[in-house]
Amino acid sequence: MPTRAGSLALAAGVVALGSAVGAGQAAEPHEGQLAAAAPAAQTAPVVAGSEELTFPRSGVGSEAAPAAAPAPVEPAGKASAPAPPAKALAAPLAQLRLTSPFGPRASPFGGAAEMHTGADFGAGCSTPVLAAGAGTVSEAGWHPYGGGNRIVIDHGNGLKTTYNHLASIGVSIGQAVAIGQRVAGVGSTGASTGCHLHFEVLLGGQTVNPMGFI
Ligand SMILES: [Zn+2]
Repeated sequence: MPTRAGSLALAAGVVALGSAVGAGQAAEPHEGQLAAAAPAAQTAPVVAGSEELTFPRSGVGSEAAPAAAPAPVEPAGKASAPAPPAKALAAPLAQLRLTSPFGPRASPFGGAAEMHTGADFGAGCSTPVLAAGAGTVSEAGWHPYGGGNRIVIDHGNGLKTTYNHLASIGVSIGQAVAIGQRVAGVGSTGASTGCHLHFEVLLGGQTVNPMGFI
């Protein structure tokens, strides 16, 4: 009796084990389907993951760098470079009549070619000479190198203007002047052959073509 019961119990245990195995075998196809679905699910997340990885990269690479950096920087650099100097100064005379431009030229006194360091504007003697920009008078007096009566106005930021061959000087060193203010009268003092204004623009101590500033 106890033996049968034990065998029954053992058989039940085998059946239970068999059912357990059967359940395990039955569960394998599900795992297999899951495994079969898993590759599909893995490929899907992988594709989706790669798309997500590619999308942010292209988004960061194209939107952030090219759109933000070159677009605003280049127009700002191009606009800030030529614009301020071109509009920095005003005409030093009410009417400009260019008689000799800036640059190399034959000397009006003969001899070898020279560098004309400014622009000559023809004007009647004592015609009002106007400050080309606001600033401070840094020189006012006789120029021993041909300028005659000469005024230099410092406009700041390395920008200066000079007015030469003046008949009269109406300002003094250290005086603040406004743009368009009368500072002198046209003359023919110094190395000059007639009443005219020799007008110079200096950037960082170097003479440049004044016509680009007025
Ligand atoms: Zn000149």
